[in-house]
Amino acid sequence: MLTSDSIVVGGGPAGSACAWKLKTMGCDVLILDKETFPRPKVCAGWITPKVWDILGITPADYPYALTQFNRIHYSVFGFKIPVITRQYAIRRYEFDKWMISRTHVPVFTHTVKNIVKINEDYIIDNKYRCKYLVGAGGTHCPVFKIFFSFLHQRAEKALIVAVEKEYRCDYLETDCRIWFFDHGLPGYSWYLPKQDGWLNIGLGGKFLKLKTSGKTIMDHWHEFTKKLQLLSLIHKPPQNPKGHTYYLHQKKQINQRENAFIIGDSAGLSTLDMGEGIHAAIASGLMAAKAIAGKKKFNPGSLSKFSLPGILVAGYKK
Ligand SMILES: Cc1cc2nc3c(=O)[nH]c(=O)nc-3n(C[C@H](O)[C@H](O)[C@H](O)COP(=O)(O)OP(=O)(O)OC[C@H]3O[C@@H](n4cnc5c(N)ncnc54)[C@H](O)[C@@H]3O)c2cc1C
Repeated sequence: MLTSDSIVVGGGPAGSACAWKLKTMGCDVLILDKETFPRPKVCAGWITPKVWDILGITPADYPYALTQFNRIHYSVFGFKIPVITRQYAIRRYEFDKWMISRTHVPVFTHTVKNIVKINEDYIIDNKYRCKYLVGAGGTHCPVFKIFFSFLHQRAEKALIVAVEKEYRCDYLETDCRIWFFDHGLPGYSWYLPKQDGWLNIGLGGKFLKLKTSGKTIMDHWHEFTKKLQLLSLIHKPPQNPKGHTYYLHQKKQINQRENAFIIGDSAGLSTLDMGEGIHAAIASGLMAAKAIAGKKKFNPGSLSKFSLPGILVAGYKK
């Protein structure tokens, strides 16, 4: 049996940030992930300047393709609102690989299925043993399922369903565009051009509202891609978008139970207005590491619940 003081289940931004911080504080840690990196991840890859701040680097230090936006064209119920701001886009395929490689901790490709607690230790699939267990496995994290799901159920009203496509094409505009509540979508759709000819387009909305609206997320996808074509933003609609679900920030969450922690999407921490989850994933990962190493209180509930104020402030500071 392989033993480590801490084991992080999931090597996305939450798990990598946590493992990186633990390692820099001299702790013994390893990561288990069901995929080998680099791996694709359904995500638009928009990140705020706060992400660089908590990582302790500047955008210039990021070694992969980075797109900078100095304005975003918002549209709310058809009203156009251009916003001067400073935002960034990365490709998750590259960003997550970079995040996990900078942890310098052992990473094992392993799909975690079963975890039991015996005395002070967590035993994972009879193969790995640890004292501190961090659940960073995203929406379907086994640590959440086994140790937290019966303590608090995730609220269905906080569930987001989203579809997107990231692909290489001759995109026709270089600014980022966001449409809120278009064609009755209980959420927003986006057009996010990136470096090297990559384009990410997609949309997401509240699952419960969609269910009662009579329209599926794919109905919205077809309307949206047709609209992009009509606006001359893309030449033709791309095929085979990918879908995923995740949870927005909820009240009264339990994120620590004895020496088990949940962070990132496993805890459901994305912002209520924009569904921004990368910052919360990294920030909660760093907080969990500090809690483990310093025997401090872990409180990701204190993380910001909204993105839009920060987007406006970024424009003001620019
Ligand atoms: C369509 C879409 C667009 C989005 N766009 C943005 C955006 O532009 N900006 C933003 O900030 N947020 C965005 N989000 C949210 C963001 O993607 C997530 O909040 C973020 O990825 C959470 O990071 P995480 O590390 O918690 O989980 P993840 O990134 O999901 O990582 C979880 C890891 O755990 C591994 N894993 C899962 N199960 C197991 C298991 N049983 N055993 C071992 N390993 C396991 C997975 O392989 C994965 O590597 C978007 C989400 C969606 C669905």
